Amino acid sequence: MERRRFLLALAAGLTGAAGLRGARDLAAGPPVAPRASVPAPIATPAAAPAGVAGVVPVDPPVGVVSGLPGTPRALALTVDDGTSTEVVAAFAAFAAGSGVRLTLFPNGRYRSWTDNAAALRPLVESGQVACGNHTWSHPDLTTLGDAAVAEELRRNRDFLRTTLGVLDTPFYRPPYGAHDERVDRIAADLGHPTVALWNGTLGDSRVLSAAQLLAAARQWFTDQRIVVGHANHPTVTTVYGDLLALLADAGCGP
Ligand SMILES: [Zn+2]
Repeated sequence: MERRRFLLALAAGLTGAAGLRGARDLAAGPPVAPRASVPAPIATPAAAPAGVAGVVPVDPPVGVVSGLPGTPRALALTVDDGTSTEVVAAFAAFAAGSGVRLTLFPNGRYRSWTDNAAALRPLVESGQVACGNHTWSHPDLTTLGDAAVAEELRRNRDFLRTTLGVLDTPFYRPPYGAHDERVDRIAADLGHPTVALWNGTLGDSRVLSAAQLLAAARQWFTDQRIVVGHANHPTVTTVYGDLLALLADAGCGP
């Protein structure tokens, strides 16, 4: 599909309609890549694609997406998991205050999302924040039987709908980037035909210092990246201003 439309789709996380809201172009989204059974190209456990907003009818790509192709001046900032209520709250405030677009991959088992639903729902509704399915409890899906894989995805899909108002999202991000044709097929059958991997990372699935996190951002905030970060540890909440500056340096700021 044409890249711009895909980006909007990624951003919006919707297959429905949309309207590009605001002028933020932080994020973008990506396309493509043949279906594969390989984990993410970069990055270790978990993490990221991201954000844009907008709403436009789209046909999301089917298969594995691990980077943004083509046109420069776009990157997608994705935020996974949500083990911390305080960090999720900070991300919501960051998005609302800066206009930056984010794509979230929440695990519904963490109460952080329910705790912050009132702040997040308007951002989802406007299209500034998109969401994808990251499973309910973050298992390695390739180790589960078919019924358990489906339950992990179905339960989180329903949670995204009822808690955050996410009507539909084509995106699913397998925890740890661990997937194969079997789990991809189950995800597609549940409405998620796009495997949203990443090709850049803040490295913050573990605890980092601010300097370490910013070093990762300097490395990966470049055109056509799908960068993964996490709403788990507080370090990232102390460097939002620096991240905005780096996005601006890359020509991808809101
Ligand atoms: Zn994760």
